[in-house]
Amino acid sequence: RLAARGLVHRFGDTTALAGVDVDLTDGGSLAVMGPSGSGKSTLLHVLAGILVPTAGTVHLRGTPVQGLSERERSLLRRRSYGFVFQHGQLLSELSARENVALPAMLLGTPRAEAEAAADRWLAQLGLAGAEGRRPGELSGGQAQRVAVARALATHPDVVFADEPTGALDQATGHDVMKLLVETTREVGASLVVVTHDADVAAWCDRRIDMRDGLVVAPGSTPSGGAGPRPGEGPAAARRLP
Ligand code: ATP
Ligand code: MG
Repeated sequence: RLAARGLVHRFGDTTALAGVDVDLTDGGSLAVMGPSGSGKSTLLHVLAGILVPTAGTVHLRGTPVQGLSERERSLLRRRSYGFVFQHGQLLSELSARENVALPAMLLGTPRAEAEAAADRWLAQLGLAGAEGRRPGELSGGQAQRVAVARALATHPDVVFADEPTGALDQATGHDVMKLLVETTREVGASLVVVTHDADVAAWCDRRIDMRDGLVVAPGSTPSGGAGPRPGEGPAAARRLP
């Protein structure tokens, strides 16, 4: 599981995170909501080891991520994490199949094996028949589904997604998000997803709301989920000075 305590992150004078705790169980899903500038992307980047926090700790299955070298963190990201971002994530010169196969190949899987697995992921995400197309020959929703397939193809422990459907119309965005949440759950990966869409948050096990770098209003979905935890409840939320 992923556990973060007391995360603070400053960009110069700007405090993007002001003391955030996050727990993500193995296979669990967490939606991160909140207005623009509230620190959602910064939280995702710190949790994923892309940014080193100014203060606080992140542990993945007991390993303190901030204690690792840049090289070790980069390896951890490649081996244990999958990423889905809003734009420009697929390589335009490669086919959908090659885009999905590439991360596994970089980890040492032979091409034929990686491409066969890529075709299975693409089929699972409803893209059978589109394996040979380049990103420019796909719709926005199809391209995002390729990105989801690529994020899952290395069998990550955790998938991090930052508003992955922000550039899509709502219906298409819903379809992609549903596939993202369902497929990560099916394969047993955890998911942290930044979203502005309350429906999407409701599909996740838990949701946190951010304001000014703090978690202010945690909640669980009506269908169940862990509910507020100590240190995350409204009573524990601190305001910026
Ligand atoms: P959005 O919904 O617009 O994506 P967000 O919740 O993801 O917003 P962050 O990107 O985490 O917000 O930004 C939090 C704060 O940190 C903002 O005040 C932002 O201006 C600042 N910030 C983020 N990245 C940087 C950076 N690289 N350099 C300086 N300030 C930054
Ligand atoms: Mg953001």
